[in-house]
Amino acid sequence: MIKLKTKVPGPKSLKILKKMQSINGGYSDPLPFVHSGKGKGCYFYDIDGNKFLDFASQIAANPMGYNHKRMLKVVKKFKSFPVKYAGQDFYTREHVNMIEEVLSISRGMNAAFLVNSGAEVNENAIKVCLQKKKSAKFGISFEGAFHGRTLGALSCTNSKKVHKANLWQFPMRRLPYDESMSDKFLRIMEEEASAEDVGFVIVEPVQGESGYNIPSKKMMYELARLCKKFKILLIADEVQAGVGRTGKWWSHQHFSFKPDIISSAKALQVGAVISRKDMFPSQVGSLSSTWGGGQTLDLAVGLETIKIIKDDKLLVRNSKMGSYILQQLRTLPVSRVRGLGLMCAFDVPSKKMRNDLVLQLIKSGVAILACGDKGIRVIPPYVVTEKEVDEFISVLDKAIHVCKRKGFKHKGKVCEITGC
Ligand code: PLP
Repeated sequence: MIKLKTKVPGPKSLKILKKMQSINGGYSDPLPFVHSGKGKGCYFYDIDGNKFLDFASQIAANPMGYNHKRMLKVVKKFKSFPVKYAGQDFYTREHVNMIEEVLSISRGMNAAFLVNSGAEVNENAIKVCLQKKKSAKFGISFEGAFHGRTLGALSCTNSKKVHKANLWQFPMRRLPYDESMSDKFLRIMEEEASAEDVGFVIVEPVQGESGYNIPSKKMMYELARLCKKFKILLIADEVQAGVGRTGKWWSHQHFSFKPDIISSAKALQVGAVISRKDMFPSQVGSLSSTWGGGQTLDLAVGLETIKIIKDDKLLVRNSKMGSYILQQLRTLPVSRVRGLGLMCAFDVPSKKMRNDLVLQLIKSGVAILACGDKGIRVIPPYVVTEKEVDEFISVLDKAIHVCKRKGFKHKGKVCEITGC
């Protein structure tokens, strides 16, 4: 159960948050507490001793929750130094094990290239496509897409203006993320370009940042059909939705199409460009990275994540728990309840109400994240129980009532470090 000892943020957290506000060059809008490392399952403690319920999973990057028994065993094995190897040139067992394990869950794929982050994966996926199709002049991505913040990945990103302001762009075309996509796609092919000009299409099979948008089966079928027809390489960005979160290993499996490249990161702990061996450039040195594959510990944790999902049959469990979450959310005064497996979301009437509600939930002991204009993500770790969902729903119900009060406004220290 949630247990708060202080107001959120507590005094110790506030000190660090304020320090970061002044020295962190990438400071954005952090959740107003500081992790202590303590916790169990879906609960964690901050450094002020407050016990929170985690329904954010560190943006889907922490699927196993806190201090999972099997993860602690993995961590305990790392008693030697270094814990990080320059993995493209100096292999460890973990590198080969990770590639083998990730291929075991990616039907039709037989090679992967390891990097560190989601943006880096997409960056390299784009490079693989451009090296394959030398005539390419531009790529295609979607309205609302988020593919990362390095310049190549950012050129494909269209979710918020602030991400791209004043930055250089790759040549790209943009498609709507709905069934009207095929008309626009065909118009580009008929009026503006030929198939030789298009280097790649990159798509999130379920859009993350811009609102947990689930496309229709027809849209995804048409997209895959058009890519096949024009021989255009298709990248499925599974950075947020992949590795079992939606109840299948990869979210594109809900739509029964096979991409040429799968981009994976977050839950995998490292980045992996997953494809067929013949897709990757054969020239030595055309793809590399010093820390490719991150820390050896990251690789071991990612590897164990896949094994736990297999052993504990978490794909089935995530689907069932996801249905339970959707069913419970539908009892509340919220709209557009949606989700696949444990990738769920709902909307409230306005952006202000959404921002108020996110903060009210955090102040009530639930770690949670927004998405899109008016959405809130519900993405607990894969170990979540019905009891924890019930606790979340009860806190959410109360928070909605608080935020709906006329003239409601957050007050106090929390406003010094968040945008309220
Ligand atoms: N692609 C998707 C779908 C994402 O959700 C994200 C991050 O949120 C990225 C790419 C970028 O990942 P990273 O932040 O690890 O670079």
